[in-house]
Amino acid sequence: MRLVLLGPPGSGKGTQAKLLQERLKIAHISTGDLLRAAVAANTPLGQIAKATMDAGELVSDELVLELLEERLSEPDVANGYILDGYPRNLAQAQALDALLERVEQRIDRALALRVDEDQIVERLAERASQQGRSDDSEEVVRHRMRVYEEQTAPVADYYANKGLLTEIDGMGSIETINQRLVDAL
Ligand code: ADP
Repeated sequence: MRLVLLGPPGSGKGTQAKLLQERLKIAHISTGDLLRAAVAANTPLGQIAKATMDAGELVSDELVLELLEERLSEPDVANGYILDGYPRNLAQAQALDALLERVEQRIDRALALRVDEDQIVERLAERASQQGRSDDSEEVVRHRMRVYEEQTAPVADYYANKGLLTEIDGMGSIETINQRLVDAL
């Protein structure tokens, strides 16, 4: 099973993706995590990506696709995977479809978490103090939300048009939301 998990920054995507990974025994692929690892390892790609990430902008489609293709060549994706943070705009959604088509595969479902904004700001403030992520300042968070509305929200329509989208109420406890996702599958 190949899944795409959509949701604004702070919607709990990463948490839910990890739970689904365990439950469904499929790989969890977070492009944000892949990028942060590249930054931490100070690779050439990471060096280019860092400033963009800190500003809350999207890293270039080419760089992220490179990371994704590399990740998809690893053996643990054979059982399927859940994509978290990708695709982030329409061009990425199309690039993903093209990439999968070449190996005669496709995305089976896209799940979109719906949350309200006040809760998001609260969650991200909490994460900023816990994890110290350099892109979790209030100003950058606001900007990431705008980027999401403008560039990533259309990705949900892209999957809806293919009949692959399920919207999930993302408000409630971690367990409740996890159950909703599992039920939707
Ligand atoms: P969040 O969903 O909370 O914003 P992520 O870990 O998914 O957190 O992403 C953090 C940052 O990493 C983004 O703001 C962006 O700069 C970069 N990033 C992650 N995934 C992508 C992607 N698919 N395309 C471009 N940039 C990305």
